[in-house]
Amino acid sequence: MSKLISSIKQAVEASGLKSGMTVSFHHHLRNGDYVLNTRTMKFHYPDCDNVKTISDTVRENYHGRRGDLVDRGYVPCGGCKP
Ligand SMILES: [Zn+2]
Repeated sequence: MSKLISSIKQAVEASGLKSGMTVSFHHHLRNGDYVLNTRTMKFHYPDCDNVKTISDTVRENYHGRRGDLVDRGYVPCGGCKP
């Protein structure tokens, strides 16, 4: 019985570690949104440094699926690799 308990404890600890990793991994994906440069046709993660250099007139926030952006002709930024 104590063996079972310790293996459950190990499983919880293992899954706790895993979900912690998932949370940090999800940081970028959490919002499911990107920032578009409608002039260069590139898209970025919102926290990409390049986003700060995009002028307001060509910058657009996008909320949705990455694949739809690619279908529309957008190319992922080489810096933040969205
Ligand atoms: Zn970028």
